[in-house]
Amino acid sequence: MLVWRIAQATSVVVALAVLATLVLSPALGLFITWSCLVPLVPVSLLLAPGVWRNLCPIAVLSQLPVVFGFGGSTTPAFANRQVAPLIAAVLLFIIVPLRLVVLNDNGPALAAFVLTVVGIGVVGTLKFRNKSAWCSSICPVLPVERLYGQAPLITVPHRHCSQCTACVRACYDLQPRTSIEILSDGAASPKPTALGLLSTPTGVFVAAFPGFVGAYFLVPAQSSVLAIYAYVAAGAAVSTALWSALGLGLGRATLTRLSAGCAAGLYYWFSVPSIAAQAHKFLGLPLCPPNLQLGIQAAFLSFSLGWMLQRSRRLAD
Ligand code: SF4
Repeated sequence: MLVWRIAQATSVVVALAVLATLVLSPALGLFITWSCLVPLVPVSLLLAPGVWRNLCPIAVLSQLPVVFGFGGSTTPAFANRQVAPLIAAVLLFIIVPLRLVVLNDNGPALAAFVLTVVGIGVVGTLKFRNKSAWCSSICPVLPVERLYGQAPLITVPHRHCSQCTACVRACYDLQPRTSIEILSDGAASPKPTALGLLSTPTGVFVAAFPGFVGAYFLVPAQSSVLAIYAYVAAGAAVSTALWSALGLGLGRATLTRLSAGCAAGLYYWFSVPSIAAQAHKFLGLPLCPPNLQLGIQAAFLSFSLGWMLQRSRRLAD
């Protein structure tokens, strides 16, 4: 436990340093955030989501009221399996495009945004039990953690709650596999169809997410705010339509794995060129030859898809 506490403290110190850099040297802070730290998150969620869950600095800070004995004692009404996934997915679909609007280019705005989220988490934890106000209910990253973290290579013990108070049902930190309710709630019903799963918030999220990710990267530069949201909404709609068509022939577990692999693969496919360009600009690394860059893109795409489809084959359709 001490090792995790030290790692959590280190995570917070690094995060505070990055926030300071975003304000004092915005270009460098943005490079560290978007080209160094954030690209580590999807692969860590595929391989060892518990490590990220334990070390996320926002989670660590928002649990300080619990650590110091000031945590709340009730569970919010929204922290149930119908409402919380819906709120979390809506927040994700609103916040991610904000990167193109302001957060990709404005260091102080990004720092203010992160501090606001931390503030919401801390205030929520003062009122509500353990992680029920944010991290285990409506955090917009939670749907992605559930989607990508279905079949971890490495599982680690949960290191936030010294004693579980059952603050939420289907806690991801306790049951990564079954916390994605479209793969567990329907188990009791005879042959739940993939199409039927679109009636659940998580089912819609799983269907829409790969297209949302792809469309985010295809938004033309200098688009208006309206156009940005129209692009990602169109991507999500196309993805949902494709998922529905595939759902006629594939099972829900296969579709969910496919969604995770496609979304993570698309993220790396589109991110690699920009990371390479930023590394050249800030670190002076040589420009990546086009063929090598294409190879790296293909490797990440293949890994993401292959990982989800092979590693998690044990999930039953
Ligand atoms: S381990 Fe228990 S107390 Fe902690 S977030 Fe999960 S359900 Fe809540």
